[in-house]
This record gives sequence, structure tokens and C-alpha cells, in this order.
Amino acid sequence: MTEQSIIDYIDNNKKEFINFLTKLIQTDSYNPPGNELNLAIIIKKFLDDANIKNEIFKFGNNRANLIAYLNNNFDSKNIIYNGHMDVVPPGNIKEWKYDPLSGEIKRNKYIYGRGTSDMKSGLAAMIISLKILKVLDINLDGNLILHSVADEETTGDEGTKWMINTISGNINPHFTVIGEPTSFSPLPKSIILGERGHLQIRIIANGISSHSSFPDMGKNAIYMINEFINKLDKIDHYIPKVNPPMTIEELKQLIMVSFPNKEGFTKFYNEQPLIQNFLKVFTELTKSVTIIKGGIKDNVIPDICEIIIDFRLLPSHNKEEIIAAIKRIINECGYKLKDQLEDGKKDIYFEYDVLLDKEASYWNNWKDSKELALFYKIVDKIYTKKPFYFLFPACSDAIYYRNSKYCTNTILFGPGNASLAHANNEIIEINDFINSIKVYTLFIYHLLKIE
Ligand SMILES: [Zn+2]
Repeated sequence: MTEQSIIDYIDNNKKEFINFLTKLIQTDSYNPPGNELNLAIIIKKFLDDANIKNEIFKFGNNRANLIAYLNNNFDSKNIIYNGHMDVVPPGNIKEWKYDPLSGEIKRNKYIYGRGTSDMKSGLAAMIISLKILKVLDINLDGNLILHSVADEETTGDEGTKWMINTISGNINPHFTVIGEPTSFSPLPKSIILGERGHLQIRIIANGISSHSSFPDMGKNAIYMINEFINKLDKIDHYIPKVNPPMTIEELKQLIMVSFPNKEGFTKFYNEQPLIQNFLKVFTELTKSVTIIKGGIKDNVIPDICEIIIDFRLLPSHNKEEIIAAIKRIINECGYKLKDQLEDGKKDIYFEYDVLLDKEASYWNNWKDSKELALFYKIVDKIYTKKPFYFLFPACSDAIYYRNSKYCTNTILFGPGNASLAHANNEIIEINDFINSIKVYTLFIYHLLKIE
């Protein structure tokens, strides 16, 4: 078996692969509520037909995870491919050109539908690569394990985290690929080595309500929140400065690889405010007040006002330090937190709760990895454009592999455009999908084949 014969096999069976992907797109796995079992059943059938060992683990209401193994050998190199089966709901269907569950194919070039980019194409390509390696009966020393998971679009606790803790804990993985979409158009493909963390905190001001004709008889909670927001920037001084995994200069160097020369990159960089902003956010903490709620009636002094602050973190940021800074600012505004109150004095105070807490993660020693170098080489060859290593602006299940030390050597790479994830009229370019099948298959072939 040669590399070219594998590529030819994939090109000759495109139709079957596109059909399988279309079937996945046409199957409802919106999360919430989840419904991943719908998808797991189709995947199981596909794997069963190819004689690939697999198992579904049901949970909750119509939800499931699925694991599959290329063979029974776990004593050599174990490679994990991870894809999530859930997709975010379609939002306002009227904004879609085609039904988000249609899998409509246009000009033989694109497939429309929710989850085409994020990430049924990546998941389908990984499942298909398992089948190809099985059908072609390539002699391999090592194993490919598929984590086809639920729950990524909510917390990941019931999906990847559960899979690692409950099912795959005794397997020693050498390398993990998560098939999230990693194009940042108009740039070529990227290979992702780390991601920012995500912390959302709700702050609630509790004042005293009164009739608005006697405002001084109450304590206006909207004004309390206003005082807090005015001091929020102090957080940047109150939490310790941390070093980003890479400086802006280092990040620029990474992208520059995909350009023919430095001038080309500099011109592109100067013309793209999005890219400039993109690099900046990987080197600092960002925070935004994203929701504010207060007031119940136009003539009542509001006794409650709340905001949600959305923080994006670097790997060395610490949640506790951010919460301590928030408490300090509340105290500096002259207010107490609920737990600082003396008994009986409960009318004016602040409280907070953590709504979302996902750590950042980063693979520190990526430069030393032979597996990663091989993966890069294959992407370069198949996509015929030099990919670049990069970081991911959003969260992914990579934290469960990297931060638990289960498999620090975890990358994101997959078909689709990262900016189309969760967007209306989400699409996948068929070529990108087919290329990713080639990359996933050839990576295992080159890494594990017995010469
Ligand atoms: Zn995703």
C-alpha cells in the first residue's frame, strides 16, 4: 500500500463519503437538548458495516457517547481522534437560505447546514479514516481510537471529560487530534496548539426599592452597578501580570510561514484589523460586560441590578485572583459582599456567582514533537499551502486532554472555517472535507505503518 493508492481510494469513493456526511448533517443533534444518540446510531451502523469495534454509551434523555477502535492492540502508539456529535441550535431559521437540516449541496462545491463546519465534517472525516484504514487492511503497529462525544457545546463534562475518566483512562495516548474547524479565511489551514479560557461571572447589586417620587428613601441598584462598572478596569492592575504562551511577535512569525515573504505578510497584517486584534487577544486578559438587567417598573427605584462579565483567560490566569479583584473593587465602591455583612443588615450588598469556568490550555513542548512535524508535513502536502501553527480564540474539549495531563500532545485540526461555527448559513467546502479525510488517514498510515 502506498500513499498514492490511499489518496486514489479516497478520490474514487468521494460520493460515499459525502453521502455519509450529508446523513449526519440531516440528523438532529441540537444541543440543547443534545439528542446525540440520533447521530451515534448512524455512526454505529457505518462502523459495524466496516467491521470496526465500537460501543455506544447512553445517558440522559436521548444522549450518548460512542467509542471505536481500529484494532485490539493498545501496547504501542495510541492515537485518539476526537469529534463532538452535538451542534448548536440553528437560531432564527428565517435567516437561513436552506433548512439547517437539509444538507443542501450547491454547485458540487459546498454543503449547507448546521454543524457542517462545527464539526460534523471533522467528525465524519475521522470516522471515514477509520473505515479506510480498516478496509485497506494496512499493516499497522499501534491503534486509532475514536472519541465521538456529546456535550461539547454545553460543558463537555458528560462528553470528552467523561470519556477520558470513565472509558479511556487505562489507555496511554501518544497524540490526540480534535477535528474542530481550523481555517481562518483567507489564511490557509492552521494547526491549533492552545486556546484561551472562558470565565463568566454574574455580579448582583442588592439595593432598596422605593417609590421614585422619594428616591432617597431607597438605594438604587442600577447606580450601584454603575459605580462598579466604572472601576472595573482596575482589575488589570489588581491581578498579577502573566506571560502569554507566545508574544505578538512570535504569533506573527507563526502566521508568516504561510506567506511567500515578509513583505506579503506585513501588507496583509496592516490591512486586516481583525488579524491585529486576533493576535492581541492571545496575549492578554479580555473582559466585557455582556448583559445588564435592572428595574421592574418606570416609577420604582430598582432594588436589584445584575450584570454578567465575560472574561477570556490565558493559560496562567487564575480564577481565584480574578474573583479576589472583583471583591476588592466592590469594597472600594463602599459596598460589602453578602458574606461580609453583619447579621441583620442584609439590605444593601453585592453578591456574585460563577456561571462558566473553562480553563485555558496550551501544549508547551510542541516544537519537540515528531508526530506534530509529521502531521504538519501531511497537511502541507494535501492542502498544497503551508499551514501555520496557531492558538484558538474559543474553547474546545482540548482542555480535558491537555490540562488533566492525560494527553498534553493535543492539537485541533479539521475541515471548515472557524468563523462559520455557530453562524447562520454554515457551510463546508467539499474539497476541504475530502482533504481532511486524506490528512487523517495518511497521518495514521505514516505514523504506524510497519515497513
Ligand atoms: Zn466545535
